[in-house]
Amino acid sequence: STFSDLGIDPWLVETLQAMQIKKPTEIQRACIAPILAGKDVIGGAKTGSGKTAAFALPILQKLSEDPYGVFAVVLTPTRELAYQIAEQFRVLGKGIGLKECVVVGGMDMMTQALELAKRPHVIIATPGRLRDHLRSSSGAIDLSRVKYLVMDEADRLLSSTFVSELGAIFSKLPTKRQTLLFTATMTDSILALQEAQSDPKKKPFV
Ligand code: AMP
Repeated sequence: STFSDLGIDPWLVETLQAMQIKKPTEIQRACIAPILAGKDVIGGAKTGSGKTAAFALPILQKLSEDPYGVFAVVLTPTRELAYQIAEQFRVLGKGIGLKECVVVGGMDMMTQALELAKRPHVIIATPGRLRDHLRSSSGAIDLSRVKYLVMDEADRLLSSTFVSELGAIFSKLPTKRQTLLFTATMTDSILALQEAQSDPKKKPFV
């Protein structure tokens, strides 16, 4: 199949072609159409599988139709992964003037707060620093219009390290949203999440 067969719009197919990307990878073939159809997904995929584009392409396509407010929050366990994901969004989103913002530890909070005040379309964050911004009064990030929550390396995010941070972040997100979860391994906490998914229309895809 091609990206067009999966429902990807011509402007994105052209962007991919300019990057010499012509054939969807397995994870992209599995996830893109269900994400475009409004489903939650749980994708089993490692770094290098093309998983970033598997969620970035459908998010960018939907964003291009309704570019208002913070549209997607991508959570990832490390700074390095956050920058890699942001770079793919930046390249793929060039055609629509995408504003993305990386929110990770080790950078000045004020500088980040100013970036966040510019209303980025996509926030790519590590959980601790995003939680800090949500807590700080000057931050005032409006997440009320978020349509997509991506949990990259979800097996690592759902380990006990990030529990309180994730709780603080989830409480600020609208419940009516899509959750896209990518994991290299199926852990008990991910299986439990999958079990807990009650809306059959949004049944996660593995
Ligand atoms: P990821 O697994 O998301 O870390 O992606 C790894 C690399 O594969 C990135 O540099 C992407 O630009 C590239 N990539 C993503 N999708 C494809 C594809 N369908 N064909 C070839 N390369 C791809």
